[in-house]
Amino acid sequence: MKVNLLDFDLDGMAAFCEGLGEKRFRSVQLFRWIHQKGARNFNEMSDLAKSLREKLPAVCSIDDLSVLSRQESIDGTIKWLFDVGGGNAVETVFIPEADRGTLCISSQAGCAVGCRFCSTGHQGFSRNLTTGEIVAQLWHAEHFLRKHLVSKERVITNVVMMGMGEPLQNHAALFPALRIMLDDHGYGLSRRRVTVSTSGVVPMMDRLARECPVALAVSLHAPNDALRDSLVPLNRKYPIAELLDACVRYLPAAPRDFITFEYCMLDGVNDQPEHARQLLDLVRSHRGRGVPCKINLIPFNPFPDSGLKCSPKSVVSRFAQILVDGGVVTTVRKTRGDDIEAACGQLAGDVLDRTNAGQRLARLRSAEERPIRIVHRERQA
Ligand code: SAH
Ligand code: SF4
Repeated sequence: MKVNLLDFDLDGMAAFCEGLGEKRFRSVQLFRWIHQKGARNFNEMSDLAKSLREKLPAVCSIDDLSVLSRQESIDGTIKWLFDVGGGNAVETVFIPEADRGTLCISSQAGCAVGCRFCSTGHQGFSRNLTTGEIVAQLWHAEHFLRKHLVSKERVITNVVMMGMGEPLQNHAALFPALRIMLDDHGYGLSRRRVTVSTSGVVPMMDRLARECPVALAVSLHAPNDALRDSLVPLNRKYPIAELLDACVRYLPAAPRDFITFEYCMLDGVNDQPEHARQLLDLVRSHRGRGVPCKINLIPFNPFPDSGLKCSPKSVVSRFAQILVDGGVVTTVRKTRGDDIEAACGQLAGDVLDRTNAGQRLARLRSAEERPIRIVHRERQA
């Protein structure tokens, strides 16, 4: 079987080249052609020896993901639905802002954690994505956007692993993918601009710190174990105190000197003033020292059958005010792309209903793609 070159970080590419009897610098050339220039076939790679160009197609390929649909929101957000085979689809979302372009990437088809407020969690787990499938989301989006923006410079400046799946339950594929994003010969993203979001897989947070430290976001959602157990089932395995210990251990290696805590605002569930006060107490006083952090409140994005509602705006503001008054930097996440169901937790809302996944995918495949209309971003100097 041919190998997919999108699976390789630079060391992997070097080993592959050595296996072909090629020198290491060839791997750098290949890597740059693929990730920096978006080359799709070996003929384009004009500075590779002709003999190598002719040898490559028999042993390797550059595997794009096939696009089921691409939608654009009126706010400029673009959502791709990619077919990953076997009736599974994953989503990738591009969020343009004045000073940056953020790509939200999926790490798994479905998710095994099963959080109550998350539509991906409700679908259950299908499979881990490969490194190549994680990287292909960035490769595809970056080079698509460059072409459509007629831009020679980098369009995607930030990556957040906040799409479908729990990235730290797929660390074996995630870590090489992160290295490709960070590599100067790859996408050259700074560690501060690549964020892994986790529901709290404690041992893998330690490994991430050792092997590939990037910015870390932790999905907290509740200030006590009883409530968090009911919202994020993984809490039964790694309760809040252990999770916060892992956050404190993470910080020395982290590219930022704080952890971002995500907190999804659920009407009448976790949004009361006493929850805010408990949360404040946790982050200020854990083990007597607290956890340096920012808190990001995410208005809940409803989906069918969740049985949950988003907290009213006034309740979100009251909650935020308590945290701010307590000295914790707090932001409320702006909802982007909700007209195309690209907001947090809405991803692939009904694609993965496996009872008739085949039919659904066929329907999506035949659906006409809306023409792209890129909203030009103003770059800040
Ligand atoms: N599995 C990882 C990353 C993917 S989810 C994690 O849980 O952190 C990315 C973020 O979206 C998480 O903070 C998650 O809790 C949040 N989220 C999930 N469903 C949501 C929903 N319906 N509304 C708002 N945020 C949601
Ligand atoms: Fe999985 Fe994250 Fe959704 Fe929880 S919130 S089910 S961990 S994707």
